[in-house]
Amino acid sequence: MATLDAAVVELPGVGKALADKLASLGVERIADLVLHLPLRYEDRSRLQRVVMLRHNATAQLALRVLDADTRPGPRRQLRVQCEDAEGQALLLRFFHFRNTQTSGFRPGAGVRVFGTARATPAGWEMVHPEYRLFPALDAVRAEGVLAPVYPLTAGITQARIRTLVDKALSCAASDPRWAESPSALAAPSTLEALQCLHQPRNADEAAAMEAGQHPAQRRLAKEELLAHQLSLRMVKQRARQYRAPAIEGVRQARLVLAERLGFALTGAQERVIDEIGKDLASAQPMVRLVQGDVGSGKTVVAAAAMLAAARAGWQSAMMAPTELLAEQHARTLADWLAPLGVNVVLLTGRQSKAERSDSQSRLAGGQVQVAVGTHALFQSDTAFHALGLVVVDEQHRFGVRQRLALRDKAAPDCRPHQLVMTATPIPRTLAQTAYADLDLSVIDELPPGRTPVVTAAVSNTRREAVVERLREALAHGRQAYWVCTLIEDSEQLAAQAAEEAAELLQASLPAVRIGLAHGRMKANEKQAVMRAFKAGELQVLVATTVIEVGVDVPNASIMVIENAERLGLSQLHQLRGRVGRGHTESQCLLMYQPPLGEATRERLDVMRRTHSGFDIAEKDLALRGPGELLGRRQTGVVGLKVADPVRDADLLPEMITLAEALLANDAEQAMIHRLVARWVGDVQRYGQV
Ligand code: ADP
Ligand code: MG
Repeated sequence: MATLDAAVVELPGVGKALADKLASLGVERIADLVLHLPLRYEDRSRLQRVVMLRHNATAQLALRVLDADTRPGPRRQLRVQCEDAEGQALLLRFFHFRNTQTSGFRPGAGVRVFGTARATPAGWEMVHPEYRLFPALDAVRAEGVLAPVYPLTAGITQARIRTLVDKALSCAASDPRWAESPSALAAPSTLEALQCLHQPRNADEAAAMEAGQHPAQRRLAKEELLAHQLSLRMVKQRARQYRAPAIEGVRQARLVLAERLGFALTGAQERVIDEIGKDLASAQPMVRLVQGDVGSGKTVVAAAAMLAAARAGWQSAMMAPTELLAEQHARTLADWLAPLGVNVVLLTGRQSKAERSDSQSRLAGGQVQVAVGTHALFQSDTAFHALGLVVVDEQHRFGVRQRLALRDKAAPDCRPHQLVMTATPIPRTLAQTAYADLDLSVIDELPPGRTPVVTAAVSNTRREAVVERLREALAHGRQAYWVCTLIEDSEQLAAQAAEEAAELLQASLPAVRIGLAHGRMKANEKQAVMRAFKAGELQVLVATTVIEVGVDVPNASIMVIENAERLGLSQLHQLRGRVGRGHTESQCLLMYQPPLGEATRERLDVMRRTHSGFDIAEKDLALRGPGELLGRRQTGVVGLKVADPVRDADLLPEMITLAEALLANDAEQAMIHRLVARWVGDVQRYGQV
C-alpha cells in the first residue's frame, strides 16, 4: 500500500488528468486527501417530497422517471422529467453526461436524487444532482448516512472525492509513522481524530463539528497550530543564514517620487514606506507584509521601494495575479518612474514571443530595473541581472511555490527582499498566527476625498426596481457590475446563474452593451471581457465572484450583488471595493433572497453602516459564532485546514510554549519534521524562505 507522502497518482484509479484536477484543490500527496476535510455534513437519512423543496436548498428525493431526452447544440444537455409519489414534477438537467447515462433513465424507473433545488418559471429543477437508479419508485431507499461534503473543483464529484478520501484513510492506517505527534497532545490520536472528522458516527457529532466544538477537531486544531508555529520559527532561524543587498535611500526615493505624483502621500503611506526602508537597508532578507484596504494606495508604496532599489543598482520584480493587473501596474509604474530614469518592462503570457524575449534580454542585460508580470516572470527562461526586490501584489492568489521560484532567481549566495501586498483585512489576532514570520505594515488610512459607497439591502422580489435604477445610471454614462454569487460547490451552477442573469438583464435592457465573465470561461476570454469593460466598450459586466482583484475602473459606480446573504462580510467588502474609485457617488445594492434570518440581516446591516475593511473584519469575527460552517475559509490568508485562528485562539499560547520546548529538544527533531511536513508541507523548501 502506498505511503502517505506518495503522490496521489499512486492511488489506484487516479490518473494524470484526475491528479491535475486534485492539484487545483491543493491535493498533491495522498496525505493531502486525508487532510482534505469536509465543509459540512449532509443528513441523507430522509427522503423529501417536491412540496417541501426550498429554492437553492439541497434536498434528497425519491422520484419516478417519466421521460429522458438529450438536446443537441452548443449547450448539449440531458433532461430527465420526473415526478414524486404525489405527482409533483421535477426536472433533472445534466450538461456533462455519457450516453449510457441517458439510457439508464428509462421511463418508470425509480431514482433517488440529491442536489440543489431551483425554482424556475418552468417549475422545479436540479442541475447535476447526485443520483442512483432503482427498479421502481417504491424501491427507492434513503442513503441513510451522514455524508461528508468536500470542497470541490470542476470535473470532480462528491462521490469521487469520497471514494478517494476513503482509500487515502486506509493508506494512513498502514503508515503509522506519518501520524506521529508529540505526547503532550492528549488523546484521541491524530488518525482517530481525522477519521472522526471524515466520518462522524451520528448527527450529534456532526453538529458538534459544524460548531467547531468537537474534541477531535480541537485536538487537530492544536496540532495544526503547533505545526505552524514550529515552521515559522524554523523559517526565521534559517533566513538568518542568508544575505540580502543592503539598499539605502528609500526615504529620499519617497520624496523624489512624491514630487512626481499629482497628490500628496497619506501619513500611513509615508510611515509604511519608511518601515520598508529600514528593512531594505539591512543586509538580511526582508519579508514584509503590507496590508491595506482596497484603494488605500499600496502601489505607490511599492513604487517607492522599487525606485530606491533601482537607484542603488538593483532590479525589482513585481508579480500580479492576472495579466490585466500586470498591465495596469506596468502602465502606472512606467508613468511614475520612467521620468526618473527607471525602465519598466511587462512580461506576460499574452505577449508575442518576440516581445517577451526582447523584454527578457533587456532584463538579463540590466538595461531595465523593474519587471512587472504574471507567471511569465518566474519561468525558467527569465533571468535577472541583479534581482534585489520581489513585490507580490494580492498575495493570496499566489502559492508559496511561485514565490520561491522567483526568489531563486537571485544570485545563489543572496536572497532578494520580499514585499507582499494584500487587501485582505486581517484582524490583529489573526495576523499573529498567520504572519508571525513576516513583519507587518498596515496602511490604515484612505486617501482623502473618497465618497463612501452608498450601500443598501434589497429583496430580490424588487429586482425590477433594481434594473430600473441601473437603467438610469447607465443613461448617465456610468458603468455597473452585476455579481452572481457562487452556489456552493458548483462552479457549473454559478456560471449558469451568471449566463441566465445576463440574458435576463439583456432582455430588460436591450440597448445596453452587457459582458459576461465567469470561472468556466478560458482565461484569455475572461481577460478580453474585463479589458472591454475597462475600456468602456461594455456598460455592464455580469460576473461571478471571479471579478479581478485590484482592477481599477473608476467609471464603474454601481454594483449589484445577487444573493448577497451567501457571502462573508470580507468578501462583500472586497467586491464593493471595485466601485467608489471615481468622483461620482457610488452605490452597492445587496440583493437577498427573503426571508432573512437574524444573523444575516445583521451582517448586511454591517455592510450598510461600515466602510473600513478593518472594522468589517472585526465585526465579522464578532458575528461568527457557533453554527459556523467548519471548513469556511473566511480569511483566506493562511493555509489552515482545521484550526480557526479566532475560534481556537485560546489554544495558541499553549502551542507556542510547546513549540519552543520541542525545538530545544534534540530528541524531538525527527518528529517535528514529520509534524511540519504533514500540516505545512515540504520543510526543506519552506526552510529556505
Ligand atoms: P490599492 O491599495 O487598492 O492597490 P491603488 O494603489 O490601486 O490601491 O490606489 C488606488 C487609487 O488611489 C489609484 O488611482 C492611486 O493613484 C490613488 N492614490 C494612491 N495614493 C493616493 C493619495 N495619497 N492621494 C490620492 N490618491 C491616491
Ligand atoms: Mg492594488
